[in-house]
Amino acid sequence: MELGDSIRVVKNIGETRAKQLNRLGIEKVEDLVEYFPRTYEDRSNVVALDQIVKGEVNSFKARVDGSPESLRVRTMTIVKVRLTDGKGFIEGVWYNQPYIKNILTPGREYVFTGKINERYGRIQAENPDFEPVREDSLNMGRIVPVYTVPAKMSQKTMRGCIKDALEGIDGEIEEFMPRSIINKRNLCDRRYAVNNIHFPESDEGFFKARRRLVFEELLMLQLHLLQLKGNVTGKVSSVSIRDYNTAPILDALGFKLTQAQENVIGELFADLRKGTVMNRLIQGDVGSGKTAVAMVLAYVIIKNGYQTVLMAPTDVLANQHYKNISKVFGSLGIRCALITSGVRKKEKNAVLSDTAEGKAQMIIGTHALIQENVVYNNLGLVITDEQHRFGVRQRESLEKKGKDPHVLVMTATPIPRTLALILYGDLDISIIDALPPGRQKIDTFAVDRSYYKRLYAFVKKEVAKGRQAYMICPMIEENDKMELRSVLTYTAELKEVIFPGLRVECIHGRMKNDEKQEIMTLFEKGDIDVLVSTTVIEVGINVPNATLMIIENAERFGLSALHQLRGRVGRGSEKSFCVLVSDAKNKTSLERLKTMCRTNDGFVISEKDLELRGPGDFFGTRQHGLPEMKIANLYKDIDVLKEAQETALFLYNTDEKMKKNENKLLKSRILRLFERKIKKICL
Ligand code: ADP
Ligand code: MG
Repeated sequence: MELGDSIRVVKNIGETRAKQLNRLGIEKVEDLVEYFPRTYEDRSNVVALDQIVKGEVNSFKARVDGSPESLRVRTMTIVKVRLTDGKGFIEGVWYNQPYIKNILTPGREYVFTGKINERYGRIQAENPDFEPVREDSLNMGRIVPVYTVPAKMSQKTMRGCIKDALEGIDGEIEEFMPRSIINKRNLCDRRYAVNNIHFPESDEGFFKARRRLVFEELLMLQLHLLQLKGNVTGKVSSVSIRDYNTAPILDALGFKLTQAQENVIGELFADLRKGTVMNRLIQGDVGSGKTAVAMVLAYVIIKNGYQTVLMAPTDVLANQHYKNISKVFGSLGIRCALITSGVRKKEKNAVLSDTAEGKAQMIIGTHALIQENVVYNNLGLVITDEQHRFGVRQRESLEKKGKDPHVLVMTATPIPRTLALILYGDLDISIIDALPPGRQKIDTFAVDRSYYKRLYAFVKKEVAKGRQAYMICPMIEENDKMELRSVLTYTAELKEVIFPGLRVECIHGRMKNDEKQEIMTLFEKGDIDVLVSTTVIEVGINVPNATLMIIENAERFGLSALHQLRGRVGRGSEKSFCVLVSDAKNKTSLERLKTMCRTNDGFVISEKDLELRGPGDFFGTRQHGLPEMKIANLYKDIDVLKEAQETALFLYNTDEKMKKNENKLLKSRILRLFERKIKKICL
């Protein structure tokens, strides 16, 4: 039997089981042996009945004492039987499994595992799993794997299938890891790892196996990403830059760039001078001034005769970028265009033909920019703002609109460097690590609803000083099921009852594009005092005169959303405040709120976020285009990840194309793996 064979060749897998397994994506023998357990149950400790621990899951060996009886209680069938091991008695009870009566043989000895409860003075094992006593059991007397099983397949059957597959291919599990790496990283060999991940010999065997498989998974992913990056970094760019004069744009910006911004611009220009295609990510906390950096680069690209396109995740943000950038660029004689789904047809046609003819030089928009009917003339640079809101695929569709344009990606979600290497493994990374001068810490408070009176007085005070406020609600409309603040109801109440003297308006995602636009323009001009909003303003929005951010039902938002929302204030030199209103009592919510009050540092916040949410939710792996991890956990396995990254870099630097004999097997494994996985998800 070979790893590449269909699972039908495995003993005891017929058509029905094969079909069930197929539904989980298990087609070949190899898929089956690499279908790792979801978790484990430790059944290795088999106790005597006088040693049993009530309230816990126990494993014990016992003889069936007498015939099982079956009773009906209303609609339920209950099977009961007395069990003994000579040292004690216990009652086995099974609910709604009438067949149990027929498979337990009186007088025979079995091993049972189940929760032990005391009911009406009797000690009972509830719905215990059992198996006749035998040597070499897969299900009892050991650490037992628990799988995600297909519908209508039991854990026992699944274990059996995997054991049969492992035995059938005995000796076939090939070691593809170079010997030198196995030695250096002290890894167990592959066959041992695969056997022990399913049926661990011992705790130690399990840990060794897991470490080896995690290492292998992360190493292959990292090597693959390095190779992807290698493919693009080597690529010669057809965008030719001769003129690097930035004086006019620096002048037009109206402020002096920070050292941090200048450093990053230096890195961008170094990329251009190399003559290869730029693929760079700029990380910078909210308010660090990423847009200005992007504008300087775009200016140079445009002045050398190419178009630049900037994609933003929301139309509110695209509109804002369009307004600000066209003001600056307009004064320099550069033509800007806006493409969102909200732009009217007639206008749009004009914009589309300007873009296609190259008359529009700076094109700004939402994902409408990647639609088929948008044709560019000579795209030199593609910028995505707030990349964490896009999928890799969207970014790539935009890049494909040009002929290998330079690529600049911006994000305000700071992540630990090790993880950045995985998430953005195909990009070079620049960091804007300082805020523009004059920024003050945003004082943040968490309060409950009993504070409203004081809070409203505070709003009035800020407005009296000429400042503006945001009030964020989790919902647009009231919803009977949830007692949450809604934009519509709250706005009405604020207008009529709470702040009759103030100018209160609202904005939310269900409004038409030009309605949203109108509201944002009024707010920017200072003609609205209090803007009630959903999270449509979460990313990118920049109104420096707003100094107060109030978030209602703050427990409803994740840490990164809270940080982004708070980042809408504190964007000028005035002191700003953020108030998180919540009555929540649960631990995680409280922890989030506490973190927000304690720090303004996006880096600290994202680490905490990762810790509270776990990596799955944090990354939305699919969103990022990463393949689903089979065994590794990007957060918990951070130490192994570091080792894997070191090894990957070493391999890449010493044998980039992996042509050396000892690396060949690893290379073909990576090719095979990612041919099947990544293509489907991201490329
Ligand atoms: P983000 O990094 O969050 O996208 P923005 O690019 O929107 O930040 O910049 C935030 C604010 O800071 C804007 O009002 C911008 O004009 C201002 N700004 C950017 N760089 C500087 C600077 N060097 N000096 C002063 N203000 C700056
Ligand atoms: Mg921004």
